[in-house]
Amino acid sequence: MKLTFSAEDEAFRAEIAGWLRKNLVGEFAALRFRGGPGDEHMFPAERKRWEQKLAEGGWTGIGWPRADGGRGCSIEQQVIFHEEYARAGAPGRVGHIGEGLAGPTLIAFGSEAQKLKYLPGILAGTELWCQGYSEPGAGSDLANVKTRARPDPVGGGWLINGQKVWTSLAHEADWCFVLARTEPDSQGHKGLGFFLVSMHQPGVVVRPIEQLTGTSEFNEVFFDDAVAADIVGEPGDGWKVAMALLGFERGVSTLGQQMQFQNELDEIIRIAKSNGAAVDPVIRQRIAEAHTGLRLMRYNAMRMLSGSDSGHDQASSLVYKLHWASWHRNLGVLAMDVLGPEAEIIESAPYNLTRLQSLFLFTRSDTIYGGTNQIQRNIIAERGLGMPKEPKGKLS
Ligand SMILES: Cc1cc2nc3c(=O)[nH]c(=O)nc-3n(C[C@H](O)[C@H](O)[C@H](O)COP(=O)(O)OP(=O)(O)OC[C@H]3O[C@@H](n4cnc5c(N)ncnc54)[C@H](O)[C@@H]3O)c2cc1C
Repeated sequence: MKLTFSAEDEAFRAEIAGWLRKNLVGEFAALRFRGGPGDEHMFPAERKRWEQKLAEGGWTGIGWPRADGGRGCSIEQQVIFHEEYARAGAPGRVGHIGEGLAGPTLIAFGSEAQKLKYLPGILAGTELWCQGYSEPGAGSDLANVKTRARPDPVGGGWLINGQKVWTSLAHEADWCFVLARTEPDSQGHKGLGFFLVSMHQPGVVVRPIEQLTGTSEFNEVFFDDAVAADIVGEPGDGWKVAMALLGFERGVSTLGQQMQFQNELDEIIRIAKSNGAAVDPVIRQRIAEAHTGLRLMRYNAMRMLSGSDSGHDQASSLVYKLHWASWHRNLGVLAMDVLGPEAEIIESAPYNLTRLQSLFLFTRSDTIYGGTNQIQRNIIAERGLGMPKEPKGKLS
């Protein structure tokens, strides 16, 4: 694993830092430190314009291959990009599901025609995506998906019927990738398809779900004979595509998240120093532990991404989700303890939370989305440690 950066990498650092200094101004200055977890609903239109600004500067899809319109940056450069992006307080990426999940999946599994059709909109920041996996009966047990896809007798493609839930940013998205059953009587991993569905059609209804934070970042999505514009891979092969996408979810995109974590920890340290909480030995210890946990997270991510952990790559990446989710949830609790009694006071009616209050409430979901901690432990046991599979069926 490389932990130092070459002169060329440092020049790249200067380039992105300089670009951000020059461009994160004017209408975009108000977006600084906005749009992170618990704040994803804020300034969608302005953040979409920011995506387009990034695209103009050549800062979208930087890790994508050049042949697919990306910049082909090395892992080190991608790390640097995310570091400088967070250091500048640049806003949460409203295009991250397209850039981090849909794009890499299309690059790996899409036809040439599909790449030509979808990748440019993702890179330009003009088309936003959402992820249609979870359903009321299929979260941890994703293979229990019930949404159906049936051949369209008129258009010749596929029609989608069913319900998805917890679909982040569906209310802003132009496209959704949907996991649906192409064979009506199929079960489990078999008979699924990975579909690309436009959100702008009469067969799609999006209902926001109000969260603990009082805001709505995710939604219920209903498909009623919605037309799928494309299927990626063959009908019946959807599970393979869907699982590969989850691998990208653990990839470089998580680096950006870490830098966001650093900003949050910095804010907590600043408050602890100013309100006297830093004098408390237990708080000091917890802050030091948070700092250490964050460094460990960074090195583990770099090891995982650089592939230098050969033979153990999979185990490192499996541990990673469990580590960051628990770390971040604990950070939310630490933030409240550093604030003290002030943590329980809402600034103004009806529900105007401060950044740290919102952080605390939102981090309750970190150990749920992207796979719960319990499921992640099962996966570590089975795939990482080679232990016997979890017994299925009722425990008596
Ligand atoms: C903020 C947020 C954003 C999200 N965004 C999206 C999105 O954009 N798109 C999308 O498709 N989904 C999204 N999700 C859904 C997320 O992927 C699911 O919530 C998650 O997979 C858990 O599924 P579930 O909610 O159905 O819980 P369940 O699967 O019903 O689990 C309930 C509880 O039982 C435990 N459990 C279940 N099975 C086992 C087992 N075998 N062993 C031990 N314990 C078990 C779980 O760990 C959990 O504690 C989001 C969720 C959140 C919170």
